[in-house]
Amino acid sequence: MMKLEHNRQSVLQQIRIAEQNAQRVSGSVNLIAVSKTFPAADIRQLYQHGQRDFGENYIQEWQEKTIQLMDCNEIQWHIIGHVQSNKTRAVAEHAHWLHTLDRAKIAERLHEQRPDSLPPLNICIEINIANERTKHGIQPDELLPLARTVLSLSKLRLRGLMCVAQANATETELRQQFNRMAELLRQLQTIAPNADTLSMGMSGDMNVAIECGATMVRVGTAIFGKR
Ligand SMILES: *Cc1c(COP(=O)(O)O)cnc(C)c1O
Repeated sequence: MMKLEHNRQSVLQQIRIAEQNAQRVSGSVNLIAVSKTFPAADIRQLYQHGQRDFGENYIQEWQEKTIQLMDCNEIQWHIIGHVQSNKTRAVAEHAHWLHTLDRAKIAERLHEQRPDSLPPLNICIEINIANERTKHGIQPDELLPLARTVLSLSKLRLRGLMCVAQANATETELRQQFNRMAELLRQLQTIAPNADTLSMGMSGDMNVAIECGATMVRVGTAIFGKR
């Protein structure tokens, strides 16, 4: 088996075990393969083995890959990096998911720029869960106002929440951060009953994230290698 597919199978196995340990339904956690900095050929290889969800951070790099991978028409592109307002058009026209919404202005631009021919863009709101200066995302008390804006825009579909946990956190701290995310999703569901997504967990912390209710894990290094 090719190395990347071998790595992907190991990650899928790890996900299934974490689901079982948490007594969660098998298959309730979806794997997003985070391909930033790796070439389109790597994405194509995994696509040929059945991987459909890919995560990218940098809009220009991603746009080049979408052109190279035009024939892989079942790819679901997940934008997981911060998006500046001058880059929203590409996201509106070519992405399936944006995980990092943190401002009403970006939501409004995406709504205006989303082509009528496409289904609504799936949106997760990013929470700065450990209140870190260096991270993007909103504070928990800003969630409901921003969510109401997204809910008012017909070309966006509010799916849930996303976070990047603190890099040097202990397992106890990780569990606190991810549990707080699950609590915030329940709060969001009081105004957005269809929000079903918790995008959290990366190569280093996916087991804890799954234990705490992640429905999407974003895994780069464990599949593609070091960046
Ligand atoms: C790069 C990145 C990932 C993947 O991280 P790994 O540690 O390589 O698995 C996940 N989420 C976001 C937001 C990222 O920027």
